[in-house]
Amino acid sequence: MFATLSDRLADTFKNLRGKGRLSEADIDATAREIRIALLEADVALPVVREFVAAVKERARGEEVSQALNPAQQVVKIVNDELVSILGGETRRLRYAKTGPTVIMLAGLQGAGKTTLAAKLALWLKEQGKSPLLVACDLQRPNAVNQLQVNGERVGVPVFAPEPGNGVGDPVGVARRSIDEAKRTLHDVVIIDTAGRLGVDAEMMKQAVDIRDATQPDEVLFVVDAMIGQDAVTTAQAFLDGVGYDGVVLTKLDGDARGGAALSIVSLTGKPVIFASNGEKMTDFDLFHPDRMAGRILD
Ligand code: GDP
Repeated sequence: MFATLSDRLADTFKNLRGKGRLSEADIDATAREIRIALLEADVALPVVREFVAAVKERARGEEVSQALNPAQQVVKIVNDELVSILGGETRRLRYAKTGPTVIMLAGLQGAGKTTLAAKLALWLKEQGKSPLLVACDLQRPNAVNQLQVNGERVGVPVFAPEPGNGVGDPVGVARRSIDEAKRTLHDVVIIDTAGRLGVDAEMMKQAVDIRDATQPDEVLFVVDAMIGQDAVTTAQAFLDGVGYDGVVLTKLDGDARGGAALSIVSLTGKPVIFASNGEKMTDFDLFHPDRMAGRILD
């Protein structure tokens, strides 16, 4: 495995203790180590550059503290910067003031949308909400069935097209689901949409049509943390194509270092709201910037 940033810096700073202030050479050596650590964590290059420049700037002004050794001090600066970029405090979900809250999920096929839809439904139920799952992924043959199975597992009903009515019309299903939620007194509607293996104009148009038909309170972009550097291009394509309010990172139980989170937030300005970390319905939580910062640095 890779050396942690603390180990690297401990080496860099072996002879530094008690010098009073970091020299320019110390700062350059530090910057190099941070750069390597971030690249190893799969952070996109332009984000690494900007980040390292910001940390250099901060490190220049700092006195070497008595309490922390220089390595610990720089790790703390890097950690604080990471937490601040990743959103500081956890961003809360926004609920509609009147009528059902509509949450639309968008992302590539395999990102984990259908699984996430049910996890989110369970989480909302635990918050005292009454969610309705909506199957608008009518592209992938098994997606409706998968949502129904997961819906059953978490005890949340699924609104899906009936045979002969709406099978080829995800936009119609999405629109009707809101009336259904009102009629059956569900206060949150979670719309699962179709993805493709790659970004594709037709998929994007369908997502835009569903968005326009349902006017979601939150569009969440669901992205697999394991895709590393590709996450950034995909995140940008969905931002340009559909637009979204927040990001959900999935598959954080894998060995991805989490650089995707930093890259996406830095380049899109959108917060990560939830984290999904396993195949069980309870493997899901609000995103915690401090935990992710730790993961990027370890
Ligand atoms: P969709 O095509 O975006 O709807 O993706 P799915 O929800 O079908 O997920 C694709 C695959 O990833 C499935 O095999 C899921 O069980 C799996 N999956 C989803 N979320 C996670 C996660 O957080 N961790 C792991 N390990 N697997 C996940």
